[in-house]
Amino acid sequence: MTATDTAVPAENRVDTPLAGPTLGGPTLPQERRLVTSIPGPRSQELVDRKAAAVAAGVGHTAPVHAVAAGGGVIVDADGNSLIDLGSGIAVTTIGNAHPKVVAAVQEQVAQFTHTCFMIAPYESYVAVAEALNRITPGDHAKKSALFNSGAEAVENAVKIARKFTGKQAVVAFDHGYHGRTNLTMALTAKSMPYKSGFGPFASEIYRAPLSYPFRDRLDGVMAAKKAISVIEKQVGADNLAAVIIEPIQGEGGFIVPADGFLPAIAEWCRANGVVFIADEIQTGFARTGEMFASEVFGVVPDLITTAKGIAGGLPLAAVTGRAEIMDAAHAGGLGGTYGGNPIACAAALAAIDVFENDGMIERAREIGVILTERLGALQAADPRIGDVRGHGAMIAAEFVDPATGEPDASLTAAVAKACIAQGVIVLTCGTYGNVIRFLPPLSIPDDLLHEGLDVVAAALAAA
Ligand SMILES: *Cc1c(COP(=O)(O)O)cnc(C)c1O
Repeated sequence: MTATDTAVPAENRVDTPLAGPTLGGPTLPQERRLVTSIPGPRSQELVDRKAAAVAAGVGHTAPVHAVAAGGGVIVDADGNSLIDLGSGIAVTTIGNAHPKVVAAVQEQVAQFTHTCFMIAPYESYVAVAEALNRITPGDHAKKSALFNSGAEAVENAVKIARKFTGKQAVVAFDHGYHGRTNLTMALTAKSMPYKSGFGPFASEIYRAPLSYPFRDRLDGVMAAKKAISVIEKQVGADNLAAVIIEPIQGEGGFIVPADGFLPAIAEWCRANGVVFIADEIQTGFARTGEMFASEVFGVVPDLITTAKGIAGGLPLAAVTGRAEIMDAAHAGGLGGTYGGNPIACAAALAAIDVFENDGMIERAREIGVILTERLGALQAADPRIGDVRGHGAMIAAEFVDPATGEPDASLTAAVAKACIAQGVIVLTCGTYGNVIRFLPPLSIPDDLLHEGLDVVAAALAAA
């Protein structure tokens, strides 16, 4: 294949309707603007090309192709401006194309793009590790290692815990999501779409029941007793290297465990020589109104995995934790060609600066108040919303059949689809597919967030 074979033919090229300095970032007009139906003709053309060229297993939520994004909007190939209530799955928490990230990336990309940190190291990787060691929960000595994706961070946290403990078993929880690689599929609870047909899965993975107050009606202490009993009877601490849990389940439905559940699990791990891993890939970096969700529950994990929000949209992930655990792996045992790429590290340093110094935690809390009030008012008037839950700018509504309390996935899908057709990108989640999750960028203006929620309310009323 020659270069011209892969070039976009002129007739298929998408010219952005916005040129020059207003191309992306926070300078984009902060408005919902529909100039065509969704999808418009250019997006439809790209959706068709995608169907022909991209493997069918790679799905998409909104049938629009993006040309620019920033603040609280995504602009599509037809010039529609959609309200973004998903942040590309909790990634662009500080806002898309944040100016500090753009500047840091531009500076770094002109210096060098790659040396491989395992060949010729560079300062920005070390500085990201230092920052993560500083801002993650707990004031014990910590170390970090950087990777490319969340799944890769989870894989490495498990490697490190096994090497440190000399044990093999790992416990994950009902409704847990940890990624799409072989080990992380095994850790993930939900078969369809994440696992179905992709086995066999990694061995020595066990599953414990989660605290899910809306459905199990147990307090945190009782739910933890139940989980610990399963772990002790079915696995045994002598065989168990690690317990991995999302402090608030992401893909599983924004399930907030009852008070006391996480501290009891963490305490049991500490007492039994088991590494407690908090998967904060979705909950991390100010999203929940704390820098990390573990702080919401007062737990200090031994290891913490991060990714998604870490670098303002560039691919980067990390494992951070107790120095003695992190140092258990022999030299050369951890790493990867691209892990801690210098451009991603430059972006992460800029993003972490924004998280720490530009009021992101406060902003997440403000957004949480708006989301909770608006969705709570909807719930009060509509019994099809069974539960509204979450923390900070990570809030979800669970949809049920009011007569039976059974999950209502078709209502959920209909509401989400109607929102997207009206120019508001919302994401669904949940083991039963009956949860709409709200993960707006913290850069979204209040009026746009309210307008997005107005559209959700109208879609629900019409469904
Ligand atoms: C998204 C996610 C992952 C996987 O991250 P990728 O970057 O998609 O590999 C793992 N754990 C949690 C909690 C996630 O939300």
